[in-house]
Amino acid sequence: MLTREPNQERIAELVRQLLIELGEDPNREGLLKTPARVAKAYTYLTRGYRQTPQEVLNGAVFESTANNMVIVRDIEVYSLCEHHLLPFYGRCHVGYIANGKVVGLSKVARIVDCFARRLQIQERLTEEIAHAIAEITGAEGVGVVMNCAHLCMMMRGVEKQNAVTVTSSVLGSFREDPEVRSEFMSLCSK
Ligand code: ZN
Repeated sequence: MLTREPNQERIAELVRQLLIELGEDPNREGLLKTPARVAKAYTYLTRGYRQTPQEVLNGAVFESTANNMVIVRDIEVYSLCEHHLLPFYGRCHVGYIANGKVVGLSKVARIVDCFARRLQIQERLTEEIAHAIAEITGAEGVGVVMNCAHLCMMMRGVEKQNAVTVTSSVLGSFREDPEVRSEFMSLCSK
C-alpha cells in the first residue's frame, strides 16, 4: 500500500498522455490545467490509502454499559470501482451491538470513508467496514448494508440506469441470531 502522497507531476504527465491517446489536444485552452486538476482529484479520491481506521477514529471510543443496537443510517458513500476507475455511490447503514465500547457517531462515517476512498468493489468495501467496526469496538455483532449505483453499469456496459446493487456483511450475533439480523435489516429499510 502506498503511504506517501502520490507524485502530482507524474500523474499529471500520465493524464496528458491519456488525453493525447484519446484524440484530444492537451494544449487547447480548456484542457491546459486538466492534468494537474485530475492529479489533485484522484489524490483526494484515493486518500483512504493514506489513512487507517485507528487514525480517523482518533481515540473516540467510549466505555458504555448499554447493550442496545446502535445504527447509523444513510451514510453517504462515494467510491471508485477498481475495474473501471468510475464512481459508484449510494448509502451505507452500519449497526452494532456494543460489548462495553461504543464509537463516536461521526467517526462511523469517517471509518466508512477511510475504506470508500480507495479503489474498491462494493462487496469488499462492505466487508472491510464491518470488520473494522468489529475490531475497534469488540462488538458482539456488527451489520453493514450498502446500496449503490455504479456508473460503470449506467454509462457503459449494460447501461442500466436504475440498477442498485445491495451488499451486506454481518458478523457475530448479527450472523448467528436471525432475530438480531432481522431487527437490523428492518431498521435499515425504514
Ligand atoms: Zn466498474
